[in-house]
Amino acid sequence: MNEAIGEYYVDGRWVSPRSSVRKAVVNPADEKNLGHIYLATAEDVADAVKVAHGAFPEYSTTSKYERLKWLDNLLQLLEDRREDMARAISLEMGAPIQLARHAQANSGIGHTQQFIKALRSQKDRDLLPNDDHLVHEPVGVCGLITPWNWPLNQITLKVIPALAAGCSCVLKPSEYTPLSATLFASLIDQAGFPKGVFNMIHGDGELAGRTLVQSPLVDMVSFTGSIQAGRQVYRDATETIKKVTLELGGKSPNIVFADCNLTDRVTMSVKNCFQNSGQSCNAPTRMLVERRCLDQVLTIATKVASDHCCGQPNQEGTHLGPLVNKNQYERVQKSMQRAIDQGAKLLCGGPGRPDELDRGYFVKPTVFFCDNDEYDIVHEDVFGPVLVICGFNTEDEAVEMANNSPYGLAAHIQTRSVERGERVAARLRVGAIHINGGELQYGSPYGGYKQSGNGREGGIHGLNEFQELKTIHYAEVA
Ligand code: NAD
Repeated sequence: MNEAIGEYYVDGRWVSPRSSVRKAVVNPADEKNLGHIYLATAEDVADAVKVAHGAFPEYSTTSKYERLKWLDNLLQLLEDRREDMARAISLEMGAPIQLARHAQANSGIGHTQQFIKALRSQKDRDLLPNDDHLVHEPVGVCGLITPWNWPLNQITLKVIPALAAGCSCVLKPSEYTPLSATLFASLIDQAGFPKGVFNMIHGDGELAGRTLVQSPLVDMVSFTGSIQAGRQVYRDATETIKKVTLELGGKSPNIVFADCNLTDRVTMSVKNCFQNSGQSCNAPTRMLVERRCLDQVLTIATKVASDHCCGQPNQEGTHLGPLVNKNQYERVQKSMQRAIDQGAKLLCGGPGRPDELDRGYFVKPTVFFCDNDEYDIVHEDVFGPVLVICGFNTEDEAVEMANNSPYGLAAHIQTRSVERGERVAARLRVGAIHINGGELQYGSPYGGYKQSGNGREGGIHGLNEFQELKTIHYAEVA
């Protein structure tokens, strides 16, 4: 990384920040500095917003065919630079290179493909049953704030639909993952979008993020991150009544019924929970198990978790990388220690680094059994490779436990019975249900119920979030 990483992309060119406040970018695998960024001042943010505001009137009148041309160019560039993107992500947040390539970098490509399809197939106007016309128009200037756990995934889930809809935007990526964001901005630059429609600054949440959210020139904010920051974003946005979409994570239940293929389903569930070192908002971190198969499940889960190992992100393989930073490492250590202090049974892993690693924010793959759901660890969004298992006796009890959460992002159900799968799915208050490992597909709406947020990302529903609806009432000319 060099000084150029610290530059902002504003009005179609790379600019030096006004800020002189440096923040080190740290490699989480060895704790060494990779370089630094400058944390935007309020003036830096205002400059970028002003440019986006100036670019909106003309960009909002471009045809969708012009926008599709630029989006197609960007898709090609994302495909061409997939390996560079994977390496940037792997370096900055520690995802093992195989995961960075096949899940992290590919997600940017998958989402972009689906947004292009959605825009291409969207009708210019809809005819309502009452003969009124409905027109989709861009919302305006968008402030886009993204986290570090799936950096390109989140950037493309926000920037692509904003640009596809005809909005201009300012992206503030996570201050922990500026490498992938900078590469993404350079691809936008090459794709030929008009100047000023996409702008990127680096900065923290407290100053840069909040300034962006509070700006009266920003019409919409799309935010992904912690529930605490999401609440602040919601509050800050009320003054200007701007549109807000939030994606705030979860503690997704995974209901395991005794009739499922236990070995297969529990093995895959544990792997799924530990993917990305547990730093995924929809990870199945809360396994609820029918008591008559509980012993078997505990044995399988402990074995699968013990077979997982941690390793260097630049090595090929399916090992776990480190957590993103020291804060996250310490948060996860505290959660595990609190669980032990409260009496949760530690089956595998636990506090401290894996024996073979003496540097980096590596956390041991960990499994806890809790004999009831009153432990903090059953409910908190730990955001590390930590699985919690609890038992239930009846389907009603399973549903009640699954819904006993402030979150409602996703839920997983393991059963051979289609009827039971459907019945339970209908009773869960979440935005997505995965039955027997059914996978998330690009283009399907993604988002939560309850405090997991509001709004949906991905495909046509994600595009719609960046569009206003204008109704046209016709009267016959006299
Ligand atoms: P965070 O919410 O603090 O940061 C996410 C993004 O929001 C960053 O770009 C940050 O600069 C910005 N931000 C922070 N506060 C803001 C504010 N008041 N106004 C505007 N922008 C703001 O997340 P974190 O501290 O890095 O992670 C803490 C916890 O958040 C994690 O352990 C996890 O539980 C949760 N998290 C969830 C997701 C998700 O995908 N839903 C992603 C990251 C973190």
